[in-house]
Amino acid sequence: MRSLYFTFAATTIGIMLISFLSAFFLSNTYYQHYLKPDNDEKNTQIAKEMSTFIEGNPNVDIEQYLVNIADLGYQLYLVQPSTNGVFYGSDFRIKEIPDTVIQKVLGGETYHGMLQFPRKTFVTGFFANELTNTIGVPITYNGETYALFMRPDIEKLFSEMHLLFGWLFLFTIILSIILVLIGAKYLVQPVKRLSEATKTLSSGDYIVKEIETNRKDELGELTRSFIRMAEKIQQNELMRKEFISNISHDIQSPLSNIKGYSGLLNNILSRDDKGMEYLDIINNETNRISSMTNQLLLLSSLEHEEHMLKLKKYNVGRQITQLTQRYEWKIHESNLMLTYDIPDVEIIADESLLDAVWDNLLSNAIKYNVEFGEVEIVLTELEKDIKVSIKDTGIGLDNEAKKHVFERFYRADSSRSQEIMGSGLGLSIVYKVVELHKGAVLVESNENDNGSIFHVILPKR
Ligand code: ADP
Repeated sequence: MRSLYFTFAATTIGIMLISFLSAFFLSNTYYQHYLKPDNDEKNTQIAKEMSTFIEGNPNVDIEQYLVNIADLGYQLYLVQPSTNGVFYGSDFRIKEIPDTVIQKVLGGETYHGMLQFPRKTFVTGFFANELTNTIGVPITYNGETYALFMRPDIEKLFSEMHLLFGWLFLFTIILSIILVLIGAKYLVQPVKRLSEATKTLSSGDYIVKEIETNRKDELGELTRSFIRMAEKIQQNELMRKEFISNISHDIQSPLSNIKGYSGLLNNILSRDDKGMEYLDIINNETNRISSMTNQLLLLSSLEHEEHMLKLKKYNVGRQITQLTQRYEWKIHESNLMLTYDIPDVEIIADESLLDAVWDNLLSNAIKYNVEFGEVEIVLTELEKDIKVSIKDTGIGLDNEAKKHVFERFYRADSSRSQEIMGSGLGLSIVYKVVELHKGAVLVESNENDNGSIFHVILPKR
């Protein structure tokens, strides 16, 4: 994932680069359309003044004069029809000029090399140090005709002031980039903290105070709203838990009344009475509601964190073996085969809570199995932990179900698991108890009905 910081810094630097290039193209176009003719006209004027001066002062030493002019910041080229030309001032980068141009100037024409200089995108003609990028004027000196080509020496033209502006420009760019990188961090930091707080919130931790900020802008407002929202969610969550816990308590007493009266009815009715059948149904359903409310109460006490673990050293291997004995009749009734490898291992844990863990996992492995399926329980002692794996050959879980299976009230919505009675609370109890013991619970399963394996890893102490 690309970070917001990277995107922000890259976008700003990108904008700076695009602005620079656009400004460069615009100023180049401006040079080509307006400055180039002006520049040509100005230099033609200067060249003509040189020519007029030389022609008006036949006594002046033309060579010395041109050396002096070159010293003032010009590049010059003087040609006589019969001889090779002479250069004054700094060298031209390209010293070629067509002979026809020289002939035309010697014939009396003015050469506007600056105006005719071809347009180039990246190098404005202004900087092209070429002999063709000059102004050519004819000069008559002591009865002889010369052609004088001149252009200002750009290097000399760039005075300290220009260099200063150049450095200023460069430093501005470098500093802007550094400040964009630092400023982006300042801007992105609260968003980053908010994103971390969202993760904390989604994992069930509602204390997100550490993101508090004094910022007065929209980011500050967003952060404060986020904190308010987290507090509201926390309040609702507390109310929900309280409600579930109260309701479960309240259900207990009518339930025990129903149980009591059904016990009395049982005493009154005779074995072959039709009412006995209904009474069985009433008993089954009351038992279901009773076990559901017990699970709800256990879960809410685990979630309230008021549940102090009653830790003690005991033999977890024996605990699981005894559980399998309790389930023997159910396994037999469902035509399942149970295999196990459960050595004696001692751990320090809350025995009754872990009993709920193994009970839920084993009862699921039986409930969600297929006829003539298998259940396998393996307890492995590791260096610091124990690992209990409960494997079944049942209906399995798809990827979506695997993600939610440990959530409260979640039941996989496959038609086969919907047919089986359940409350969706067992695995959330398993998860919570294992979490309180600082262990981990994992599920391996695929959608091809090859069954599932639940692994519980617990520290030995
Ligand atoms: P319950 O079994 O009471 O519905 P659980 O919390 O124990 O609640 O399980 C949640 C859901 O996970 C079940 O409804 C079922 O869809 C799925 N599930 C649990 N154990 C297994 C298993 N061994 N094989 C297939 N699906 C399972």
